[in-house]
Amino acid sequence: MPDGTPCPPTAQFALRQGPQLAANIARQVRGEPTRPFGYQPKGLMSAIGHNRAVARVYGINLSGFIPWLLWRGFYLLYIPTLARKARLYLEWNWAMFFPPDIAHLRFTRTVEDSDEVSQDQGAQGVTEHSPTPVAERV
Ligand SMILES: Cc1cc2nc3c(=O)[nH]c(=O)nc-3n(C[C@H](O)[C@H](O)[C@H](O)COP(=O)(O)OP(=O)(O)OC[C@H]3O[C@@H](n4cnc5c(N)ncnc54)[C@H](O)[C@@H]3O)c2cc1C
Repeated sequence: MPDGTPCPPTAQFALRQGPQLAANIARQVRGEPTRPFGYQPKGLMSAIGHNRAVARVYGINLSGFIPWLLWRGFYLLYIPTLARKARLYLEWNWAMFFPPDIAHLRFTRTVEDSDEVSQDQGAQGVTEHSPTPVAERV
């Protein structure tokens, strides 16, 4: 950091270090002097459970529901693609109002199941590989 202390190993810094590193490598290749990393952190945030968080934003300490909303907002902001943002937003809000669902359906297959389905399809003249998930076959 500008004062000589090491940067915390967090995404806030990594996001700025990446482009700067790339630019410095390019400068080095061109024979130009590199530039020091000089990012000033905006603050810190941490979720502490039960829809609460603690935060220090521009030196102001916050705690409770509002910083928790801020924390979620930042995460959502950096999630790539609109579709993922929308899905996550819906899932998060769902989880706020409903208890966790203890019935967990995993649509995974063992290698044997996959082979068995492929053979079944082969016998029926199906050439494309489209195995049916185990949970649907039970
Ligand atoms: C469990 C966990 C939770 C975290 N939670 C938070 C959080 O809540 N908030 C926060 O701000 N930060 C958090 N962090 C820290 C944050 O993830 C890191 O600071 C950030 O990811 C660092 O980014 P980076 O690009 O420097 O490295 P990375 O994200 O580690 O990216 C390095 C990439 O280089 C690839 N790589 C490595 N070696 C090679 C090679 N030889 N050839 C090609 N590719 C290679 C790796 O596969 C990886 O994809 C967390 C970290 C962990 C482990």
